[in-house]
Amino acid sequence: MQTKLADWIRDTPAGKEAEAVLRKCVHCGFCLATCPTYNLLGDELDSPRGRIYLMKQMLEGAPVTHRTQLHLDRCLTCRACETTCPSGVEYGKLVDIGREVVEQKVRRPPLERAKRWLLKSTLPHRGLFSAAVALGRIARPLMPARLARKLPPARAAGTWPAARHARRMLVLDGCVQPALQPSINAATARVLDRLGISLVSVPRSVCCGAVPFHLNYQHDALAYMRANIDAWWPGIEGGAEAIVVTASGCGTTVKDYGRLLREDAAYATKAARVSELARDVSEVIAAERGRLRELRAPGKAAKVAFQSPCSLQHGLKLNGVVESILRDAGVTLTPVPDGHLCCGSAGTYSILKPGISRQLLHNKVRALESGAPDEILTANIGCLSHVQSGTRLPVRHWIELLDELTSGRG
Ligand code: SF4
Ligand code: SF4
Repeated sequence: MQTKLADWIRDTPAGKEAEAVLRKCVHCGFCLATCPTYNLLGDELDSPRGRIYLMKQMLEGAPVTHRTQLHLDRCLTCRACETTCPSGVEYGKLVDIGREVVEQKVRRPPLERAKRWLLKSTLPHRGLFSAAVALGRIARPLMPARLARKLPPARAAGTWPAARHARRMLVLDGCVQPALQPSINAATARVLDRLGISLVSVPRSVCCGAVPFHLNYQHDALAYMRANIDAWWPGIEGGAEAIVVTASGCGTTVKDYGRLLREDAAYATKAARVSELARDVSEVIAAERGRLRELRAPGKAAKVAFQSPCSLQHGLKLNGVVESILRDAGVTLTPVPDGHLCCGSAGTYSILKPGISRQLLHNKVRALESGAPDEILTANIGCLSHVQSGTRLPVRHWIELLDELTSGRG
C-alpha cells in the first residue's frame, strides 16, 4: 500500500515502524473472515482492513475523531488477523502505535477517563488487587451471579519445592494471577521440579506492563518493564536458563520487551536479553517431552476442552503445543469449533466493551461445551476467569492438570 506519512511522525521510530507495516498491506481482505468484531458487527471499520485504513489516514495527517477511537477501542488486539494475513502484516504493532496517537489527539469523556485510570491504578498492583479479590470472595453471596462467577473459587497453591536443581529458571509472578489463582505458578514449580528444573520466584518482580500498555498508559507500562528487568537481572547473571511465564497474555508482552525498550539506552540491551529468555510454560514443557512421558502416572484419564487463548496462538504463535503435550499425557481433547476466535476477555476489554465481550463469551462457551468435556483448560488467567463466568464446568490452567497427572512421580 502506498503511504505518505505526515511530517510529525514520518521520521520517528514509531512512524518508521508504522510505515513498514502499512506498506505490506495489499488490502486483499482475507483477514476479515477471522476477525471476531467484523463477524459480529459486520462493519468494515470494525475489521482489520478498515482499522488499518483508519490508522493510515490518521498517520497521513487526516483529522482524527471519536469515530476513529471507537473502532480502535472495539479491536480486541486478538491478532487473529495476523495469523490469517498472507502478506505478513504485523497488525499488533500498528494498532499499538495507532492507539497511542489517537489517545493524544482525542480527549475521552470524563467517565471513560476515570474508568481507565481506575483500572490501570488497581489491576497491576498485586497487593491492592489481592485485597479486592479477598473482599470480593467474602461478598460473593451478595454479588450478581455473573460477577460472582468471574471470581474463580480459591484453590490452595500447595507446596513450592525448594530450589534443589542445578538447572534454574525464573518465573513472572505477575499481578492479577497470584491473587486469583496462586495454584498456577505453584503447579508449574512442582512439574518443573519433577523434570529436574527449579523454578525461582523473584518477589520484587511486578506486573508485566500489559494492563497499562493496552489502556494507553505506555509510560507506566515501560516503568513496570524496567522494574522487572531490574528484579530479574541478578538471577539472569546468576545463570537462570529462562524466564517462565504462565499467562500467555503476559508472555506476549515480556517477549516484546526488547522492541518496546529499544530506544532506551539504559535498558535496551537488557530488555533484548529478557525477551530472548522469555518462555511460555508450554515451550519449556515441550522441550522436556521425553522425560514427561516417564512421569505420567498410569490409569489417570481426563476428557477436557482446551480454550487456546489468542495470545497463545496468534501472539506467541504456539498453536497446538499445549494440545500435543496434553495428548502425550493421556488426556482426551474434545473438539472446539472456531477455536481461533477470541473469548472476549482480552485484558480489560470485558469491562470496557461488555456487550461485544458477552456475545463472544456466549459463542466460546457453546463451542467449548459442545464436545461434553468434564472440564475446560486454558493458558491465560484473563481467559480463565472470563470463561468461568459463562459456564458451570470447572475451568483451570492446563499446567494444573499436568501437575495432577504427574504427582507422586519424579
Ligand atoms: S492485513 Fe493482510 S489480509 Fe488484511 S487486507 Fe491487509 S494484506 Fe490483506
Ligand atoms: S486484532 Fe482481532 S479484533 Fe482486532 S482487527 Fe485483528 S482480528 Fe479483528
